[in-house]
Amino acid sequence: MGRRMLVAGNWKMNGLAASAAEFEAMRDGAGADGPEVLVCPPATLIRLFSDLAGGRIAVGAQDCHVAANGAHTGDLSAEMLADAGASAVIVGHSERRADHGEGDAQVRAKAEAGWRAGLTAIVCIGETEAERDAGRTLDVVSSQLSGSVPDGATAANTVVAYEPVWAIGTGRTPTLPEIAEVHNHLRAQLAERLGASVADAVRLLYGGSVKPANAAEIFAAANVDGGLVGGASLKAADLLAIVAAARSAA
Ligand code: PEP
Repeated sequence: MGRRMLVAGNWKMNGLAASAAEFEAMRDGAGADGPEVLVCPPATLIRLFSDLAGGRIAVGAQDCHVAANGAHTGDLSAEMLADAGASAVIVGHSERRADHGEGDAQVRAKAEAGWRAGLTAIVCIGETEAERDAGRTLDVVSSQLSGSVPDGATAANTVVAYEPVWAIGTGRTPTLPEIAEVHNHLRAQLAERLGASVADAVRLLYGGSVKPANAAEIFAAANVDGGLVGGASLKAADLLAIVAAARSAA
């Protein structure tokens, strides 16, 4: 299959300049080979961290505006994030969908904005607990996948992150068969849309309460190519343990 594992940390609204020491510990501990490691700090830290980055650790952003510039007070364009040193941008995180009313069309436009600036788009999808309880998980993720991932997606410009909303920050995770069921389904959906060879190369991350204690078993599930990690990505020891799990699973 040839997909390289990716561990992406989403720091959300956490981190100050003093967090550079933690980022340096991540960089120094990430090793010379193995999974790719991406840290997505708040935008205020992208320039600082990208100046410190190196080896296998890169820096990403958590969101972008769809426009390249203009009258959008407080927003940041993908071009600005790339200029600050980001190589990737998370789009469609469930916290953005919930807190800012972002829908699939906007998420797709943000992914395209990321591409325009040369960034890899990490497109997040995932069902709510009510949707899972209603047996609608596969329908929901299919619809979000087709609505949020732009035509022209390739392994080079796009990563898909399956993040069940009810698993984010809760300590709860789906069972391994449930994760594999969704990831297999997403791979098949991508193959219908993009063709088998592109779909086979696109990385599918699992996100939602990934921790050092559960990373190895989650990364061993079918069609899981790494993780999007929130809380456990803030501490170098935790992130590096998750990277080690990804290395073993590769
Ligand atoms: C996330 O916010 O993308 C996430 C997966 O968070 P956590 O790992 O804390 O559940």
